[in-house]
Amino acid sequence: LVSRKKHPENTVVDLKGVMMGDGAQRLVMGPCAVESYEQVLTVAKALKERGIRLLRGGAFKPRTSPYDFQGLGLEGLQILKQVADELDMVVISEIVNPADIEKAVEYLDVIQIGARNMQNFELLKAAGSVQKPVLLKRGLSATISEFIHAAEYVVANGNNNLMLCERGIRTYETATRNTLDISAVPILKQETHLPVLVDVTHSTGRRDLLLPTAKAAFAIGADAVMAEVHPDPAVALSDSAQQMDIPQFNKFIDELLASGLYKG
Ligand code: PEP
Ligand code: MN
Repeated sequence: LVSRKKHPENTVVDLKGVMMGDGAQRLVMGPCAVESYEQVLTVAKALKERGIRLLRGGAFKPRTSPYDFQGLGLEGLQILKQVADELDMVVISEIVNPADIEKAVEYLDVIQIGARNMQNFELLKAAGSVQKPVLLKRGLSATISEFIHAAEYVVANGNNNLMLCERGIRTYETATRNTLDISAVPILKQETHLPVLVDVTHSTGRRDLLLPTAKAAFAIGADAVMAEVHPDPAVALSDSAQQMDIPQFNKFIDELLASGLYKG
């Protein structure tokens, strides 16, 4: 169902009026994790000023260590919804448990399935059974073929509003947190008809690489780039090394616009 051979036309996913996959370049931005209403509001206002309506933020955080901040859960989704309602934004947030989907769809606009759950087939089926757009991230060690099969689970269960996100894979290289597989973008565009995003934050794990990798993503045909923004990354409860603060975010947008690869 996701194969371009069977369905040559691009799928365009409508995110409350923001089109994904229509040939324009989009940005999905926001904090790694929802920490407070003020934190989300501060970031969302900065995004809105630069014309960005796609607001990400983790409420259910899949953390490597059980002792790290696990997210605010449903309260985090409520905060995102409150800010999104005030500023007319679109909420993208990860769900890790199939049982949470029914409740979560009241608050979010896009269900994110994270890298660690790319092959959580029960979660894929559950996300496929609701009519909310889904953003599926590539697994940490998943081949492109496994990624496409995971996507097929969502569509096979009845949900055509699916987007794919390359977020780096595990290799022997240690200079970056993961290795951004940039060629996955044109491969996924050739093999499927789905919108393709690139997450520059989790793939690189390095603030200094966000701009060059975002340019590369747009240059190679990505429909959108995801990156994290936090009012004060030094005190962020997760991913403090790679989130941008607001001045850095504004510079990132200025430089992307100047490159001509992102039109705003
Ligand atoms: C995220 O986007 O918040 C996240 C945890 O990313 P990933 O699943 O790609 O690691
Ligand atoms: Mn993060």
